Formats: sequence, structure tokens, C-alpha cells
Amino acid sequence: MTDNRTAIVTGAGSRRGIGQGIAHALAAQGWNVAVLDIDEASAKDTANALTEAHGVAAVSAACDVTDKSAVDAAVSTVEELLPAIGALVNNAGITSPVPFAEVSDAEWDRVFEVNVRGSYLMTKRVVDGMASRGFGRIVNLSSVSAERGGGVFGGVAYSAAKAGLLGFSRALARELGPAGVTVNSVAPGLIDTDITAGKLDPEHKAAMVADIPTRRAGRVEDVADVVAFLCRPESSYLTGVTYDINGGSHIH
Ligand code: NAD
Repeated sequence: MTDNRTAIVTGAGSRRGIGQGIAHALAAQGWNVAVLDIDEASAKDTANALTEAHGVAAVSAACDVTDKSAVDAAVSTVEELLPAIGALVNNAGITSPVPFAEVSDAEWDRVFEVNVRGSYLMTKRVVDGMASRGFGRIVNLSSVSAERGGGVFGGVAYSAAKAGLLGFSRALARELGPAGVTVNSVAPGLIDTDITAGKLDPEHKAAMVADIPTRRAGRVEDVADVVAFLCRPESSYLTGVTYDINGGSHIH
């Protein structure tokens, strides 16, 4: 039963993004959903669409996941308005294709702040409540870049940050297993969203698709289905795992 529980999805504002796809997949399973995004207007649009499409309770909150007080305030709002938090999907992320020779300290920090610190702050804020209730599902959005060393759109900083999330998930899975909280990762390959913001030219994209055994880019639903599966109460024996969602572009 998920209708008495709430799932938080960060970065779920982006209209064509993976996060809103995850939010819809969770709402379709009956979860109440909290949409957190740095872009307040888009978060609100997603929350409205969730209630309209699935009849669940959904709220939105403006939240920069790198800002501890913003994270605290947003989660407090969710706790006031919706049933107990049962799932957290750390989806908010930014990419960076900058080659290592050109990476500035600021760029390195920016990529780690959102992808790693943001996931840490969100998790830290919700995890005690989950553990005290004896139920929780945490899913972190890693990337195939973490496993194969870039190759989609991510450079060294992005690959390192997303690999950091794999270690974070696995170590946390060990600590939280006894409390009924699972922690897993998904590692998507090339998924058709706006994260590359027009920076991936059509020839480059076509060459990448030609190299994918399934001969297509991934869809947000491909990722959303797996995340929703990992959040089910029945998925309680899956923890510390990484699900590859890449059309076979990285088989290892
Ligand atoms: P997207 O750019 O479409 O969406 C990202 C969302 O995160 C946006 O709504 C943005 O406003 C939000 N966001 C960014 N910084 C934030 C912050 N500091 N605080 C709160 N929200 C913030 O990206 P997407 O393609 O949907 O990617 C979603 C996740 O999946 C990311 O973690 C990304 O690294 C990962 N991923 C994407 C791909 C891909 O090919 N699209 C592949 C592997 C992994």
C-alpha cells in the first residue's frame, strides 16, 4: 500500500525530464508525491499534472538541494501537508562535459554540489523519519558515465560525482538495511531529455544511437519504471544494487 505514504522526487520540474516521469510512475502506483525543484513554477506544474492525471495528493516546493536550510524548509512543508515520507528519489542533477584539462575548481565544485551534496542533504533530512517508521525507499540517480567513464555527455567531474553516488548508496544500504530502508541506484545511459540543453548536436547523437544495441535513445519512462519498481514495498530484498538502463550500451 502506498496511498498512505509520500514520495519525494527532486528535480521533477523539468517538463521532459526523468524526474517528472518518475513522479508520474510513482503517482500511478498510488504514492502521494512531493515535487522539489530549484525552478518553482515548473515544480508546481508537475504537481498539478500529477493530481489531475492520477488523483493523488501532490505538493510542490521550491528547493535548491545544495542549500541545507532550503532542504529543511521544503521537507518540513512536505511533512506538514502530506502523509509520512516513504520514498526519496534523488534525481536533481546537472551534467558537465568539460574535459579535465579545462575544468575549473568552480566547475568541479558545482557538479559535486548538486549531484552529491544535494543527495546527501536530502537523504540526511529524511532518513531518521524513515528509520523510525521502519520503512523507506531511497533511489539515487547515477549514470552510465560513472561506470564507463563518461561517454554520454558527462566529463570527468560528472563521472566522478555520479560514481560517488554509487558508493554513497551501497554504504548507506548496509547501514539502513536493519531499519527497513533500502537504498539503490539507477545508472541511465542516453535518455532523451533537456539535460544537454541543445549542446548535443544531431550528428553526435546519431553516432551514439548507432552504437546502442537497441538502436534508440532511452525514454524517461524507461528509467521511471525501474525507479517505481525499486520503491514498491514488495522490493524490500533489493538494496545496494545498481540498475543499468542503457539499451545495452554498457554491458559489463
Ligand atoms: P533535466 O535537466 O531535464 O532535469 C534536471 C532537473 O533538476 C531540472 O528540473 C532542474 O531544475 C533540477 N535541478 C537542477 N539543479 C537543481 C538544484 N540545485 N536543486 C533542485 N533542483 C535542481 O535532467 P534529466 O535528464 O531529467 O536528468 C535527471 C537526472 O538523471 C540527473 O541526475 C541526471 O544526471 C541523471 N541522468 C540523466 C541522463 C540523461 O541522458 N538524460 C543520463 C544519466 C543520468
